[in-house]
Amino acid sequence: MLRSLLIYLSKAGWARRMVTRWNIAWRVASRFVAGETPEDAIRAIKALNAKGICATLDHLGENVTSADGARQATDEILHVLDEIDRADVKSGISIKLSQIGLLLDESVCEANLRRIVERAKSQENFVRIDMEDSPVTDMTLGLFRKMCAEGYADTVGIVIQSYLFRSADDTRQLMEEGARVRLCKGAYKEPPEIAYPKKADVDASFDRLTEIMIDGAARVGLPRISECGRFPPIPAIASHDEACINYAKDYAEKVGFPKNALEFQMLYGIRRDLQDRLAAEGYPVRVYVPYGTEWYPYFVRRLAERPANLWFFISNLFRG
Ligand SMILES: Cc1cc2nc3c(=O)[nH]c(=O)nc-3n(C[C@H](O)[C@H](O)[C@H](O)COP(=O)(O)OP(=O)(O)OC[C@H]3O[C@@H](n4cnc5c(N)ncnc54)[C@H](O)[C@@H]3O)c2cc1C
Repeated sequence: MLRSLLIYLSKAGWARRMVTRWNIAWRVASRFVAGETPEDAIRAIKALNAKGICATLDHLGENVTSADGARQATDEILHVLDEIDRADVKSGISIKLSQIGLLLDESVCEANLRRIVERAKSQENFVRIDMEDSPVTDMTLGLFRKMCAEGYADTVGIVIQSYLFRSADDTRQLMEEGARVRLCKGAYKEPPEIAYPKKADVDASFDRLTEIMIDGAARVGLPRISECGRFPPIPAIASHDEACINYAKDYAEKVGFPKNALEFQMLYGIRRDLQDRLAAEGYPVRVYVPYGTEWYPYFVRRLAERPANLWFFISNLFRG
C-alpha cells in the first residue's frame, strides 16, 4: 500500500514540484545521489575505484516528452561519456530509454540510442539499458537487440526484473544470445496479472533467474570482467539482499564458476559495508552512481523500497 502510494508519487508532477522546493529533501536525497554535476559524479567514482569497485554512471532523467528534451538528454549523456573517458575512471553508463525519447517516438529514441552506443564503442565503454515499467519492456528489449544486431553486442547490456512472470523466458532467450544481463527485482508498480505481488515470490524468482544466468554464461565460455573494469561479465546480480547474494555465490561455487565471471551491483549509498565485503572477497562489484538535477523520481523509488528511508526523510523534515 505504502509502496504503491510512493511509486504513484514518484510520477506525480505536483508532488515533484512540492518536494524539490524543500532544501531538506535534497539533503536526504543526496544520500542516494552523488551530486548535481558530472564533476560530483566523477569524484564519487574515483573514491569507489580507489576501493577496487567499478561504477555505472546514470545521468538522472526519465519520461521526457519532447524531442528537444530527448536530444538535450542525449547530448548530456554523450558529454558524460567524454568526461569518463577524460578522467580515465572504471565506469560505464546506465541509461533509461524514456529519457531519450521512447515515450515520444520509437524512431527518435533509436536514433538517440545509436549516437550514445556509437560514442561508447569508440571510447571502449559500455552502456547498460535500464529496464523501466512494463508498457515499455518489449520496446526496450527490441531496441537492445537492434543495437546488438548492428554490431554493438559488446557495447550494450540489458536488465531483467524478477517480479515479471515473463522474465524466465526472456532470460533464457537472452542467455542464448550471449547478452550481458543485470538482474534486479524491479522497482515499479506492476499489476498482479503480469508480476508477482508477493515479495517471497519475487525473491524465489530472483534465485531461479540467477541460476539461468550462471548456467547460460557457463555455456558461452564464462566471459570475465574486462581488465579496464568497464565491460561486465554476463551475469550481474543487482541486489542488496544478502540472501539472494549468498544464493548466487553458493550456486556459482557449486557449478565451479570463477569469481571474476560474476558481478554484484548495488546502488550508491546503500549497503556500503556489503559492497566492500564482496570486493574484498574477490568478486567484481559495480555501484550505480546517479547524478543530476532530475533526482526526484529516483529518490522516491528508493523511499518506496525501504520504509525506514521514508521515516528518516520525514523525521528530517520535522527537524528542519
Ligand atoms: C545496480 C542496480 C540497478 C538497478 N536497475 C534497475 C532497473 O534497471 N530497473 C528496475 O526496475 N530496478 C532496478 N533496480 C532496483 C531494484 O529493482 C530494486 O528495486 C532495489 O534494488 C531493491 O531491491 P533489493 O534487491 O535490494 O532487495 P530488497 O529485498 O528490496 O531489499 C533487501 C535489503 O536491501 C536493503 N535495501 C534495499 N533497498 C534499499 C533502499 N532503497 N535503501 C536502503 N536499503 C535498501 C535493505 O537492507 C533491505 O532489507 C536496480 C538496483 C540495483 C542495485
